[in-house]
Amino acid sequence: MRLILLGPPGAGKGTQATRLVTKHSIVQLSTGDMFRAAISNQTGVGKEVKSIIDRGDLVPDSLTVRLISERMDEDDCENGFILDGFPRTIAQADALAGLLAGKGLKLDAVVELKVNEKILLGRIEKRAAETEGGPRSDDNAEALKKRLDVYREQTAPLVSYYDEKGTLCTVDGMADIDDVAKQIDEALAGV
Ligand code: AMP
Repeated sequence: MRLILLGPPGAGKGTQATRLVTKHSIVQLSTGDMFRAAISNQTGVGKEVKSIIDRGDLVPDSLTVRLISERMDEDDCENGFILDGFPRTIAQADALAGLLAGKGLKLDAVVELKVNEKILLGRIEKRAAETEGGPRSDDNAEALKKRLDVYREQTAPLVSYYDEKGTLCTVDGMADIDDVAKQIDEALAGV
């Protein structure tokens, strides 16, 4: 199974991805995690992206697409994967379509976690206050607000992009975790 999880920061993508990984024996491909690993390992990519990520901007598409393409070729992706945090722009979505076609793979579904922006902002501000000084250097209030703006401007258009392709399932991301999980399972049962 190959899925995309779509939703703004704080929508609970990571939590649902972790569960889906176990349920479907697939791997989670999080571009954010890959970048954070590159930063902590001080690789060339890490040095290139650190300041971009810290301020909540997007890493250039070319770099992101290359990274994800190489990752998809690894053996553990054979049974499928869940894309968490990719694609984030229409250009990345087009690139993904090309990548998958080139690798002879099919996307099964795009799951959108739909959230109320006002409530979400409260949630992420709380998370910023709780995690300030924690492992994520972009979890401060300013970078989180920026990430939310970037989502609205650059990533939210992917909802209609995938809706037009007929691969979109929308679930209520404001429900409690178990209920969101149930909605996702029901949506995926039909694909
Ligand atoms: P995330 O963990 O998904 O919230 O990603 C953290 C940060 O990594 C984002 O704010 C971006 O700076 C960068 N990033 C992650 N995924 C992408 C992507 N698909 N395209 C561009 N930048 C990304």
